[in-house]
Amino acid sequence: MAASRALGAITISRAVELTMEFDPLFFFPQTSQSDWKELEPILKPHAMHPDTGQLLLPCQSYIVRTSHHTILIDSCIGNHKERTNRPAWHQKTDNDYMLALSANGLAPEDIDYVMCTHLHGDHVGWNTRLVDGHWVPTFPNARYIFSEKEVDSWQNQGHEKFSDAPLVDSVLPVIAAGQADLVASDFALDDEVWLEPTPGHTPDHFAVRLSSGSENAVMIGDMMHTPAQCRHPGWVAWPDWDPEQAIATRRGFMEKHADTDMLVCTAHFPLPSAGQIVSDGDAFRFVNDDQDW
Ligand SMILES: [Zn+2]
Repeated sequence: MAASRALGAITISRAVELTMEFDPLFFFPQTSQSDWKELEPILKPHAMHPDTGQLLLPCQSYIVRTSHHTILIDSCIGNHKERTNRPAWHQKTDNDYMLALSANGLAPEDIDYVMCTHLHGDHVGWNTRLVDGHWVPTFPNARYIFSEKEVDSWQNQGHEKFSDAPLVDSVLPVIAAGQADLVASDFALDDEVWLEPTPGHTPDHFAVRLSSGSENAVMIGDMMHTPAQCRHPGWVAWPDWDPEQAIATRRGFMEKHADTDMLVCTAHFPLPSAGQIVSDGDAFRFVNDDQDW
């Protein structure tokens, strides 16, 4: 069985598909070589490759089992997707993601909800799989929760840095199959699971809040990509749609939750990817039992 942790009556575990690698100077265009040199002792070897200096970002789904539901938060990259600009994502055929789900004792039929924090290709990919040349929902019994505003933005406005391929092959087929619920980004599923608006990375990016008893967690998707952004909340990741809004959301979030016991579950920080925000002068650090970033 894969490792899981308890949050009151809720359990949280993960399915990791792969580790993504990005050049830090490409991913954070405003940073310099010396910025990263300073962080190397903290980031290497888990958040930064010890030899190449590439940022290491796991790509994972969180699996949340509540009193009522089994929920998948974000759905990674997927197989057979046409992603020519990302060789490691392009036309994948491996079974790693499905094996990671089964290591959690789950088959696709067991998922009740899929929630996508936003519609980038590494968060929607396994929403669908290719069957006889058609994209069909991977999770046949699931309702898929998308922000209506986010879908609308990708459909009608477009995003100049990104292709709309993930929308077309991993979101629209779910809507066409009648399995999507298009909601506002403050939608509440029940008293254990609800959404909170965290715009900036994309137009209507949301976080997923979990609560059970006196324990609280939040899945923050791509509000931050690396623990370096706790120390430097003003560093803007290349994919951020609205840099000013992304900074305001990130800083506001960390100010609100710093020095509390809120369990912050990130999409792309090194495993276990979850911990607490602590304040550190004008900035923050990300800490858990094993790590102090
Ligand atoms: Zn991402």
